[in-house]
Amino acid sequence: MLLYSFIFLLGTVIGSFLNVLIYRLPRQESIIAPPSHCPECGEYLKVRDLIPMLSFLLNRGKCRYCAKAISWQYPVVEVLTAFLLTILYHNYGLNISFIIYSILICILIVCSLIDLQYKIIPNKLTYPALITALISSIFLNHISLMGSLTGILVPGGLFLLLALLYGKGLGMGDVKLVAVIGAVIGWQFTLIGIFLASLIGSITGLVLMIAGIMDRKTRIPFAPFIGLGTIISLFYGEELFSILMSLY
Ligand SMILES: [Zn+2]
Repeated sequence: MLLYSFIFLLGTVIGSFLNVLIYRLPRQESIIAPPSHCPECGEYLKVRDLIPMLSFLLNRGKCRYCAKAISWQYPVVEVLTAFLLTILYHNYGLNISFIIYSILICILIVCSLIDLQYKIIPNKLTYPALITALISSIFLNHISLMGSLTGILVPGGLFLLLALLYGKGLGMGDVKLVAVIGAVIGWQFTLIGIFLASLIGSITGLVLMIAGIMDRKTRIPFAPFIGLGTIISLFYGEELFSILMSLY
C-alpha cells in the first residue's frame, strides 16, 4: 500500500513536469530555464505554488499573484499521470517494463495534449523517443531488437501509406508517433491500439458531428485516440488478442 501511494505521488510530480513540456515544447521554449512562472503575469512560482494538485486546490484554480484562472489541464494531467502509472505498477510490478511503459505513457500524454491544442506532434519528442526505444531494445529485455524494428516498420509503414493516400486526416507526426509506440510494445499490440483508436475516434467524430460541434472537414487530432488505444492495448492487449484470434 505504501509503495502504491509512493508511485501515485511520484506520478503527480511527473505529471507536473509533463505540464511544463506541454506548455513549452510547442512554444519552442527551453524546458530548464526560466523557472516555472505564471503565463499571465510572469511571476516566478515558489515551492508552495508548485505542489501537484494541492496548490491548484488551495489557490482555488487561480494564480496567487494575479488571480487569473489556471487551466484545468494542470491538475487533470497530474492526476491522469499518477493514475496510469499506478495501474501500470499494479500490472507489472517494479521492473524494467514498468519503467519503459511509464516513459511511453508520459510521451503519449504530452503528445495528446499538444495535438489537441496545436494539431501538431513535436519532432523534439518523437525523434529522441524513437532512438531511445531502439537502443533500449538492444540493452534491455522488454522487447527484442527485431521486435522493436518490426514495431517501427509495420505500424509506421501502414500510417505512412495512409498519410500519403489520404493526406489531410493523418499527419507525419502521427506516423512518427505510431513508430515510437511500435518500437516499445511491438507491432501486434500497436496494431490493436490503432484499431481501438480508429474505433473510438470514429465514434467520437460521429457524435461530435451529430451534436453540431464539428463538420466533415474538421481535422480531429488523432494522438489522443492513439494514446488511449495504446494504453488499453498495454493493459488488456493479451485478452483482446486472444478474443480476435478466437473470432478468426
Ligand atoms: Zn499570475
